[in-house]
Amino acid sequence: MPRECRPVHLSDPFPAPEPEPVAGCDVCAALAEQRAVAYSVGDRTTVIDRNVEMRRHPHARKAKS
Ligand SMILES: [Zn+2]
Repeated sequence: MPRECRPVHLSDPFPAPEPEPVAGCDVCAALAEQRAVAYSVGDRTTVIDRNVEMRRHPHARKAKS
């Protein structure tokens, strides 16, 4: 009996796209900066942490210009 043995595609363990900092938001800007620093030192835990914070950071749906 044949086995369905297809190769599993393993690429990035964290496939979720990283959130973009919202323009004009100081909190997002600070999180993005901390994330960049964490990247530069290879601190993936902090990177993920900052991404979560950035995603959960509340924003008004429409920024007034
Ligand atoms: Zn923000």
